Amino acid sequence: MISTSLLPVETPTPAHICPFDQACSYLDAAAKELKLDQGILEILSNPRKVITVSIPVKLDNGDIRVFAGHRVQHSDILGPYKGGIRYHPAVTLREVSALAMLMTWKCALLGIPYGGAKGGIAIDPKKFSVNELERISRRFISELVKDIGPSVDIPAPDMGTSAREMAWMMDTYSVNVGHSVPGIVTGKPLSIGGSLGREMATGRGVMIVVREALKDLGKSLAGAKVAIQGFGNVGGAAAELLYLEGAKVVAVSTGAGGIYSEIGLDIPAVKAYAKENKKSLVGYPQAVSVSNAELLTLPCDVLIPAALENQITEDNVNQVQAYIIAEAANGPVTLGANKSLEARGVTVLPDILANAGGVVVSYLEWVQGLSYLFWDEERVNREMEDLMVQAYEQVTQQAKRRSCPLRLAAYTLGVGRVARALSDRGLYP
Ligand code: GLU
Repeated sequence: MISTSLLPVETPTPAHICPFDQACSYLDAAAKELKLDQGILEILSNPRKVITVSIPVKLDNGDIRVFAGHRVQHSDILGPYKGGIRYHPAVTLREVSALAMLMTWKCALLGIPYGGAKGGIAIDPKKFSVNELERISRRFISELVKDIGPSVDIPAPDMGTSAREMAWMMDTYSVNVGHSVPGIVTGKPLSIGGSLGREMATGRGVMIVVREALKDLGKSLAGAKVAIQGFGNVGGAAAELLYLEGAKVVAVSTGAGGIYSEIGLDIPAVKAYAKENKKSLVGYPQAVSVSNAELLTLPCDVLIPAALENQITEDNVNQVQAYIIAEAANGPVTLGANKSLEARGVTVLPDILANAGGVVVSYLEWVQGLSYLFWDEERVNREMEDLMVQAYEQVTQQAKRRSCPLRLAAYTLGVGRVARALSDRGLYP
């Protein structure tokens, strides 16, 4: 069973690492396992709506530049479209489409009443001033006003965006429709209806699933050696929380490179160093420097790729020493590498489970906003933990039932729920 996509082909991305093709391959595998009807598979393999807008912006020096902004709405079968907006130079329409599809399975797997979407602009946010970023964000969202809404499509932060961009977007949308609509985005600042616990949520979710996976192998976080690629919103939070739970975080990195200490890094000290040095870890005294590629093959129990896609490939997979890999990033393991990890019996905690903590707390933020009742951080973390542990257990039980790896188990659950809802709803007309 093979999915057929209506999306235009983009070159020059080699087919084997095209994120959309990769996402479709995982969908195909789940469809085969679930014996899905070919027509249903065809619906699920195509985004429902693909929106590309021009974003003309006046730069600080007076020049005008036009950026392309994408919003791909993959599925709203289970609820409003949901997913982040990414600012990164590698953004393409096919990548955004792949990430939108992953959001659909992620929300279904976690049992939260959302569909899946993703947005993005191919820019390096570091190359723009705050004022320029504000104008880009505001113009992007005003171009999307008719396509989004608190019960239609709810954006959130992703790579290169944060609560700051969400505040600009919420304000722009609200001004456009003439009244305040806090529910239009999640991941907002607390001052306008954000949720406690949202910033650390993705990292916390990663820590929770790693803890559960170690437990299933008769081990614990205390003393476990963990290497983390990335030290941003996800990797940094995961490092901090794992450190607090007693894990030995032996390596972390940023885009500029990483640091390694066999005895474990003092994460609060690393954080303070990064803060003083414009987010760079280069020159951190109590560690040796390693490249981002070297970090992946260091001796450790748990490897957490928390940065970009396609990091563990057929070229380096045989050197990976960890026996648990938690995909904190989306798609950090290529299809080929995934096959050999599964053949070797490495536990791969798939992205749609491992990094779901963010969207779970987005959901909790939305629920708090809709009910005009805000919770303390302990309650937010507890509710999130319950949903993460429940999803982890469902995935491991499904893997046992179907004698399959965790990724296929997670996909069969997520895809299966959407396919069932689609069949129950039927086709119009
Ligand atoms: N960007 C995050 C993700 O990929 C969060 C999305 C959301 O909160 O809607 O899961």
